[in-house]
Amino acid sequence: MDLFEQVADTGHESLLFCNKPEVGLKAIIAIHSTTLGPALGGCRMWPYASLDDAVTDVLRLSRGMTYKAAAAGLDLGGGKAVILGDPKSEKSEELFRAFGRFVDLLGGRYITAEDVGTSVPDMHHIQAETRWVTGVPEDVGGSGDPSPVTAFGTLQGLKAAVHKIYGSASLKGRSVSVQGLGNVGYHLAGYLAKEGAKVFGCDIDADRRQRAADEHGVELVPVESIFDISCDVFAPCALGASLNDETIPRLRCRAVAGAANNQLAEEERDGQALAARGILYAPDYVINAGGLINVYNELSEHGYHRQRALRMAEAIYANVSRVFQIAERDGLLPAAAAARLAEERIARVQASGSRHWGRSVSHLFR
Ligand code: NAD
Repeated sequence: MDLFEQVADTGHESLLFCNKPEVGLKAIIAIHSTTLGPALGGCRMWPYASLDDAVTDVLRLSRGMTYKAAAAGLDLGGGKAVILGDPKSEKSEELFRAFGRFVDLLGGRYITAEDVGTSVPDMHHIQAETRWVTGVPEDVGGSGDPSPVTAFGTLQGLKAAVHKIYGSASLKGRSVSVQGLGNVGYHLAGYLAKEGAKVFGCDIDADRRQRAADEHGVELVPVESIFDISCDVFAPCALGASLNDETIPRLRCRAVAGAANNQLAEEERDGQALAARGILYAPDYVINAGGLINVYNELSEHGYHRQRALRMAEAIYANVSRVFQIAERDGLLPAAAAARLAEERIARVQASGSRHWGRSVSHLFR
């Protein structure tokens, strides 16, 4: 497919190729939609095998950000950037500053952030060249580690799923299996324990699993048996694609509600397999929007406040509940209902004829 067709086919507004050979920069910035607000999305650094792979990835990821922000009710559009290179050996201050100048050219239509292969210090270099960056260090007004907010938001979505199944959101006496006790899983386990849930958990990293056991009373189970634990909710918080042909038949839970990205190896087929087994699925990008909500708060006129970010993440309960309602109303799987939630909001804003972005971001452009 020709590049223009690929951009049009995926509904993108624009694609910017950033080339600065003097510092080894090859990057692509994709802007999928700016209907609801500036396109915010992380900057991924990855040694792509080919330019085609990089283009396909950036287009897929930026479209995903449009849906994530729209479903979360934020005044943000969707975009993403990829830097073609090995984050282990090809990072430099000059490279990120050059990338920052390309971001700056877009005048705020695209706002960058951390992603796979980039880190807070990299965002700090970008910030030297542009103000259109989030996820900068806390001591310069940034939002710091997003995982406590992601975990808190995940807890809200998990409670919405429990409410849908049992008619009460209380976690007292419920049981949850957390796969992956890293940044998000560790905090989620803590929140769950505080709410009176019995928490099972596993991690391939011995120190991380022991910390969760010692500090949050998590009952550790072997990594390979996490799918077989009888529980109310299975919470994937490790890597993507953990739900697939092999693992779904083993689940002994009533709901899947966790923070990992791309939990279903194949969205349609695995979504159907879960539904066929009577397991309620809370779509990943709706339930894990706390990280995005966290950086969004950096854009506030009043600066970043952790308490405000946590308060906003409470809305994930209502968003996940709304997804379940739409699924029932329209006879859809939850993942398709989440897409509809996002598309309906974008269509409503488009139909309103407004030529302004919401108040939470409009001050940035005064
Ligand atoms: P992390 O790397 O800190 O934690 C992941 C943990 O999973 C690690 O401790 C790792 O050892 C463990 N793990 C890997 N494979 C495993 C396996 N097969 N079985 C058990 N444990 C395994 O990452 P994180 O920041 O906690 O993110 C977790 C997931 O949530 C990721 O999919 C991430 O994309 C997603 N997410 C994170 C955020 C955030 O704010 N950090 C926001 C949105 C989505």
